[in-house]
Amino acid sequence: MADERIRVAVLGAAGRMGATVCRAVLDAPDMELVAVVDPPHEGRPLDDFGVAGTGLTLSMLGPSVKAAEPSVAVDFTHVDAARGNLRWCGLNGVHAVVGTTGLTGDDFSDLSALFDGERANAVVAPNFAIGAVLMMHLAALAAPWFESAEIIELHHDNKLDAPSGTAMLTAQRMAEASGEWAPDPTKTYALPGARGGEGPAGIHVHSVRLRGLVAHQEVLLGTTGQSLSIRHDSYDRTSFMPGVLLAVREVANRPGLTIGLDTLLGFGAT
Ligand code: NAD
Repeated sequence: MADERIRVAVLGAAGRMGATVCRAVLDAPDMELVAVVDPPHEGRPLDDFGVAGTGLTLSMLGPSVKAAEPSVAVDFTHVDAARGNLRWCGLNGVHAVVGTTGLTGDDFSDLSALFDGERANAVVAPNFAIGAVLMMHLAALAAPWFESAEIIELHHDNKLDAPSGTAMLTAQRMAEASGEWAPDPTKTYALPGARGGEGPAGIHVHSVRLRGLVAHQEVLLGTTGQSLSIRHDSYDRTSFMPGVLLAVREVANRPGLTIGLDTLLGFGAT
């Protein structure tokens, strides 16, 4: 009987996320890891990066990867590398699942042309943690029923940017769901910045950086006599894997370019 497992290539396989994806693919009974790409580490065995026993060697993206016949490539690299990698996937008829962050509006226009549903499809998600996607969806759903909201995002102390992309996207989704937010009452500041940054629709976003944390976010919503807190915690990189594997399984059935996991989870944008 033919092997019907999904043939997966991992791009950025020596990286923190890439190596975690390799392990998740190896553990998935319906998937086969057929190629691992990481040019800065070309020629080294995948074993050197904590994924033992596959016999796979890190390579460039090119004829040897094509010969391995992947049907899906998962990219967790850096934005400049991802642009070239995705072009290769689109032109070679390989579906792409993309977790790399930092792609711009222009990139998304290019990707819609490249992944036109004819040769290949792509799923791009800035956050593959299913709980985080649900948190954003629930926050947008709740927004019209509350007059005030604040977002607190908390991350490890190596994070260089603030606020997180997820916090900004949450604020944007809430602002799209409701324009009726009470004005900020604060008139004087004993400490500049005490009220955090003002995001879309004036929603305040606070960034906490603390050693020992991974990635966390709480959305607080308030109205007369009650409040609602929606919190998500990622404790390690495995939190992203169910979402990545879902996208690997689904990408062939989603013509063109899909942004975010919402439709894959069965709910459209709020
Ligand atoms: P990392 O630096 O540990 O890994 C990146 C890897 O890509 C490195 O091994 C590097 O050598 C390799 N690389 C460089 N150029 C390449 C190329 N042309 N082709 C293939 N590989 C190449 O980074 P990381 O922590 O694993 O994060 C990777 C990306 O994933 C970042 O953009 C990060 O923001 C993003 N991320 C996304 C999610 C999500 O849910 N979408 C979650 C976590 C991290």
